[in-house]
Amino acid sequence: MTHGDEADLVLLSNTVLWLREDDPVAPGFVAVRDGVICGTGPRQDAEDFVGPGTEVRDLGDRPLAPGFVDVHAHMEVAARMRYQTVDCRAPQCGSIPEVLGQLRAHLDAAVDGWLVGQANLFFDQKLAEKRLPTRGELDSVSTEVAIALRAGGHITVLNSRALELAGIDAGYEEVQHSITGLPTVVRDNAGEPTGVVKEMDNILPLPQLPADELAPAIQQGVREQFSRFGVTTIGEISETMDGLTAMDRLHQDGILGARVRLYMWVPGTTTLEQACDMAVEPPVASSPELLRVHGVKMFSDGGFSASSAAVKQPYVHEHGSCGEVALSPERIAEALSATAAAGLQLAIHANGDRAQEAVCEAIVAAGGVPDGAPTTRVEHAGNFLPDPETTTGAWAAAGIVPVPQPVFLYTFGDFFPTYLGEYGERGRFPFRDLLNQGWPLTGSSDVWIGSEQQATNPFFSIWCTLARRSFFGQVIDADQAVTLTEALRMHTVNGAHVLGESHMYGSLEVGKHADMIILDRDPYAVDIDGLLEIAVEEVFLGGRTVFLRDRTGDRAESQAG
Ligand SMILES: [Zn+2]
Repeated sequence: MTHGDEADLVLLSNTVLWLREDDPVAPGFVAVRDGVICGTGPRQDAEDFVGPGTEVRDLGDRPLAPGFVDVHAHMEVAARMRYQTVDCRAPQCGSIPEVLGQLRAHLDAAVDGWLVGQANLFFDQKLAEKRLPTRGELDSVSTEVAIALRAGGHITVLNSRALELAGIDAGYEEVQHSITGLPTVVRDNAGEPTGVVKEMDNILPLPQLPADELAPAIQQGVREQFSRFGVTTIGEISETMDGLTAMDRLHQDGILGARVRLYMWVPGTTTLEQACDMAVEPPVASSPELLRVHGVKMFSDGGFSASSAAVKQPYVHEHGSCGEVALSPERIAEALSATAAAGLQLAIHANGDRAQEAVCEAIVAAGGVPDGAPTTRVEHAGNFLPDPETTTGAWAAAGIVPVPQPVFLYTFGDFFPTYLGEYGERGRFPFRDLLNQGWPLTGSSDVWIGSEQQATNPFFSIWCTLARRSFFGQVIDADQAVTLTEALRMHTVNGAHVLGESHMYGSLEVGKHADMIILDRDPYAVDIDGLLEIAVEEVFLGGRTVFLRDRTGDRAESQAG
């Protein structure tokens, strides 16, 4: 060893997931100095990096892998949700009596007279009764505590006390818009509210997390929903400025276990102008390697669960509606040039095929993504491609990168035909075809209110790309399965690539941050369902342990520095 080669840490393993296409797994070592990988290779070469001050750990057969990259998450929303709500999600709560029992068992957890339950997307379909609980059923839990059961963020069921506190009665008039969509109070034949409300959550007087509890909620949320599953970089869609400030403080204190790349939600969190100003004058003091304002996120349409994704053929039950494209070509052109000038990456939510093509046409009409600007992302592109040649042709012409979510195959793969008829059976999550065409596919959780409990576990997302099994156990287009190596790359190196940071992390290569995870078993040695059982034993962020799993459960390291 020459003195300059001495590493701080050398990890040896018989199973290193190098994830090279030709040679994904091999025994070897990774040497780390100052948080950066300074050497890799076969086991016998490790001693070149060992000096008197080097910590050497031989992991034996336990695999060493690069940390996972979740390119699209709403970590702050998920952290807020899990902190003060009762988990009523299916299939753990599989029927209305089980939902009511879960709420009843947690009545003492009510805050300011409110008990908020979290249920998942398509909750009415996922319960045995194939319907939502009624106002009367929630009243059977309590008429004194206000109860709000949030079924995925668009639809909420309220009991009578909650309706009373929200001022919703037979004479209530909805406001004409909210941030997420058109607010609606569902009424019975006599005009009385049934308890079901849509797109009203921002208007309801739900209890808010006290400001001083936000940082602990985010710290705990990152640990339990991301670090525990080996995620070391989060592409975060911003929620509030308070959230950004809390993340900054946690990183400065050395106690947030993942890199965060913030996409400012315009107009939900800030204006376009404010977001671009933040790139010039960052509102955070943390190292940009750990936390930075990275992009801007805008919505061009809604979601399939609310029948508001803009598609080319009408929804079955919506009187001929095909959803709306809400972002004008002028606004897209404005966002393209403003973000490019600020060095921010533009991410546009476009769920439906019609929305994707409209966004791409607007980009082409605006002269394309400006030279030198980060590649524009189209969120949810690739989840549903009923007319693949036209839509991928539009992607290619506009030079965008599609950002699909494999977890949605499980969450709502079953429901495309329910909503869209025969049209909805075509082109669901065609990942094999897209990889064959060379698209750099990624996996991401899009964790939000009503996500599946496993949504933030990359091995769940990886399982979705291999098993292609939906909530009801239907295998959707088995010929579109990808290989395990492709799936692992989607959740590591491809994620880093889409964030424009593949030089910084995403694989175990010299010069990259030592963002690494130790697994309890080899993903190449288990069957597909066995992927769901893999546990992450330790997580390193820049060579520093930020999560350790022990026999008595999970605990996180919170050493500063
Ligand atoms: Zn999202």
